[in-house]
Amino acid sequence: MHKDIATPIRTKSILEKYGFSFKKSLGQNFLIDTNILNRIVDHAELTEDSGAIEIGPGIGALTEQLARRSKKVVAFEIDQRLLPILEETLSPYPNSKVIHQDVLKADVGQVIETEFAGIDDVMVVANLPYYVTTPIIMNLLEKKLPIRGFVVMLQKEVADRISAKPGTKDYGSLSIAVQYYTEAETVMIVPKTVFVPQPNVESAVIRLTVRKEPPVALKDEGFFFQITRASFAQRRKTILNNLTSQLPDGKAKKEQILEALQKAEIEPTRRGETLTIEEFAKLSDELYKDFK
Ligand code: SAM
Repeated sequence: MHKDIATPIRTKSILEKYGFSFKKSLGQNFLIDTNILNRIVDHAELTEDSGAIEIGPGIGALTEQLARRSKKVVAFEIDQRLLPILEETLSPYPNSKVIHQDVLKADVGQVIETEFAGIDDVMVVANLPYYVTTPIIMNLLEKKLPIRGFVVMLQKEVADRISAKPGTKDYGSLSIAVQYYTEAETVMIVPKTVFVPQPNVESAVIRLTVRKEPPVALKDEGFFFQITRASFAQRRKTILNNLTSQLPDGKAKKEQILEALQKAEIEPTRRGETLTIEEFAKLSDELYKDFK
């Protein structure tokens, strides 16, 4: 087996050889601990028949472990300066491929179709660039790609919000959006010392398992998300007040909202953070006829 990329000594020598300097603006914090990398990959439960999509391979620390433990890994990297490095570090792994592209602009569905033809099990596994974690996750979820799930490292604060349950301070429209598409759990808290350079914030790994069916049936998905965002516009306000200030004006607006709340059996004095996904579903279906 080849020497691991993710040791402090090997990483340093690769970076020095290429005169690489980290770009903070691209969220470049590289992992230098193979133990952590292996644990991340363990949580993805890959087999030799799995495909892995990585976002931001850096110098290939995680890509290498994914290549060893899956059929194929495809990694999107935005920073051109990393391409010659990856060409060298990943040369022992012909089942790895780097695509030089901003993942937010990539047609990931098309890439899955062409690169993973004949592979039924696809996972997204990544140490995400922290400046764009939420757009990356939401963008991939909204596309409803044929993937089993995600195991990704991100800021602990965002991990807490994604996996939060109703009635907690972290629960909000992001928790609902992600939990609508997936079952979400935080599986690891990761110390700063396993990165170079060390990030300013705490890190965690979350596992998102894509649901086969949505947890609730809805008249209109887009409208449901609009209502959940409106309900959290100001966290300290009641659901009635938030909806009244956020929904478009019209005749009898407040009465219509009150009626919808009553039909959905939700007290108007409750705050958005206490409502379950099922309650938001009932409420948005009731509001649909008047406010869509
Ligand atoms: N996977 C490597 C590791 O764990 O050591 C590097 C992870 S580093 C936190 C994030 C990586 O994402 C960097 O290589 C960065 O250049 C890349 N990146 C940043 N924004 C990106 C984007 N929009 N699309 C693709 N890659 C991006």
